[in-house]
Amino acid sequence: MRTVRTGLLLLETFALIVFLLTAPLSAEQGSATRQQESEWPLHGRTQDEQRFSPLASIHRRNVPQLGLAWSLPTGTTRGLEATPIVVDGVMYVTTTWSRVIALDAATGAEHWRYDPKVPGWKARHGCCDVVNRGVAVSKGRVYLGTFDGRLVALSAKTGEPIWEVRTTPLDQPYTITGAPRVVKGLILIGNGGAEFGVRGYVSAYDAETGALVWRFYTVPASKDGPHEHPELEQAAETWSKDSVWASGLGGTVWDSMAWDPELDLLYVGVGNSSIYHRETRSPGGGDNLFLASILALRPDTGRLVWHYQTTPGEQFDYTATQHLILAELEIGGRSRKVLMQAPKNGFFYVLDRATGELLSAEKYVSVSWATHVDLATGRPVERPEASWDDKDTVVVPSIAGGHNWHPMSYSPRTGFVYVPAIENSYPYYYDPDFAFEAVKFNTAEDLDRLALAVEGYEELALAVCSPTRLLAWDPVAAKKVWEVRRTTALPAGVLATAGDLVFQGAEQGRLAAYDARTGVRLWASQPGVRIMAPPISYALDGEQYVAVVAGAGGSAGGHFIRIDDTNEGRILVWKLGGKQERPAARPRPPRSVGAPRIELSQDEVARGRGIYYEYCVACHGVGVKSSGLYPDLRTAAPEVHDQWTDIVLGGVRQAKGMASFADALSISDAEAVHAYVIQRALAEPNLAQRLVGWASEHACIPASWLAD
Ligand code: CA
Repeated sequence: MRTVRTGLLLLETFALIVFLLTAPLSAEQGSATRQQESEWPLHGRTQDEQRFSPLASIHRRNVPQLGLAWSLPTGTTRGLEATPIVVDGVMYVTTTWSRVIALDAATGAEHWRYDPKVPGWKARHGCCDVVNRGVAVSKGRVYLGTFDGRLVALSAKTGEPIWEVRTTPLDQPYTITGAPRVVKGLILIGNGGAEFGVRGYVSAYDAETGALVWRFYTVPASKDGPHEHPELEQAAETWSKDSVWASGLGGTVWDSMAWDPELDLLYVGVGNSSIYHRETRSPGGGDNLFLASILALRPDTGRLVWHYQTTPGEQFDYTATQHLILAELEIGGRSRKVLMQAPKNGFFYVLDRATGELLSAEKYVSVSWATHVDLATGRPVERPEASWDDKDTVVVPSIAGGHNWHPMSYSPRTGFVYVPAIENSYPYYYDPDFAFEAVKFNTAEDLDRLALAVEGYEELALAVCSPTRLLAWDPVAAKKVWEVRRTTALPAGVLATAGDLVFQGAEQGRLAAYDARTGVRLWASQPGVRIMAPPISYALDGEQYVAVVAGAGGSAGGHFIRIDDTNEGRILVWKLGGKQERPAARPRPPRSVGAPRIELSQDEVARGRGIYYEYCVACHGVGVKSSGLYPDLRTAAPEVHDQWTDIVLGGVRQAKGMASFADALSISDAEAVHAYVIQRALAEPNLAQRLVGWASEHACIPASWLAD
């Protein structure tokens, strides 16, 4: 009797404890707490976008026991860049062509798939593959930006569309690849397309209805107005009246955002101009606001509170769209609310995010275009010899930047920011005869000479240079703590965890874990499909998982790397003691050269080369040497050559992403491109010759770029 009563008492006490633990929280609060601690509810996990998981079940000592729990094929063969979102045990992943997969985050069982049916021809409007970096999930809805410029709200439960709005005009070369953010009942979405000639902006929509609440244009439409909002008057003063207004001026907000609820400031990163050459786009100079800037906006109204321009008069595609991280740092004996960014220009910035005051800006990779950033003025001190205002130049970092879209991460435990960095150079050839033309690559570089200079080195440059790095940056000391030289040319996003681990995709499709304090590699998965997306971590029922989407492509995938496997995308999830075999990558079947062996006019080849570099290179690669992700035209089958003008002008392969170029090219233009492609297909690559003449001072500057 006594035993039974004691048992009941114990049960009652247990029930009371459970009640006390759970009762003060409503179902929603409980869910919110659980998400905060163990799931991955937002793009950067938290609004400060630190990409730090507080989970520590997987740590430095047991990480060697990490094994694959499950994986799911995405059914794609192109680039995957998404951050998976994990809310209430469900994982939401985006794939190519802005498709969404919802699945059980513990088992991988699929719930639903959604295809927004982006028209294939729209691929022509993208610089960097038909990628997508993820959805936002809030209050039972999934928000998606589509490649063709729509913002869509889906039911999180069923994947059924609830509302859809067009946020960019379909016929203009805008694209959306970035993830929307949810702030105070608003859905924020930007867009891309600067190189092709668009005007950048960020828009806020009502999460409930899809109604447009505000839009902030990053550049003015004209010198004298009328301007859509007062900030553009200030911006217009920094552009010459003869600016190439028809180009839209660029300044697209294609990736980074972060929100500080206490200061009530929304931070967005702004990209480069349509025309890289600054004397061409704004003759006579000017800072060209708000290109390459970080903006602090009021989320309710879209009004500007402060701005910081990383690269005034930007001329090297040095965007400031890179990942923004918010943190509290002890600087000069004072706790500061900071914002951190490692933009393409090679300087790591720490700003006071309440005021925009610059606290530090030091080189995190090699930098040749500026000597330093003057802390008093906040401006970089350019090297005049680096400019291409009136001559050719070679600069470091390259057009890919010291760091691109691949997210970095910050660990409050180590105090370090982990940056997926790139060490590389790029030549800019001045073209005094450039003229803007809609929907071509409008950078104002002399693409003919660029083609001749870069065709000699191709992917060898990256193989020799080993240009990618994982580095740990101390933002208080403003210096590098450690660096891992990666043996792959494909950069990849980063995750830091409270287990003092840093996870990143590595060579041959591996996922690797590094000691967050030393950079020592502690674990790597077996090889598979290449990873460039950022990993995440979450816990369900006490089990910690590490997840990533695998699939190469994007800006680097077009031509900077060589991919010999079929690149079949996968969602991969690991846990301690996981026993699944990772599916090995399948080799791409070899293809022979189907180009006809015909006499080519060298004049026609040269003309074709020029057209190719204006319209074709973004997908088909430098020197027609595509990575293999897009059709490698050098190994195109005989029927491709037979149907050449039907494909290029007739649009017969439009559904697959090869749009018609009939609006821009004549039959004789298409034939000239064909002649150039045939010449490239029949060219005998001479490896030994390509190795000769490498400049060694900067390991990644080929000698051919320095000639003349
Ligand atoms: Ca760009």
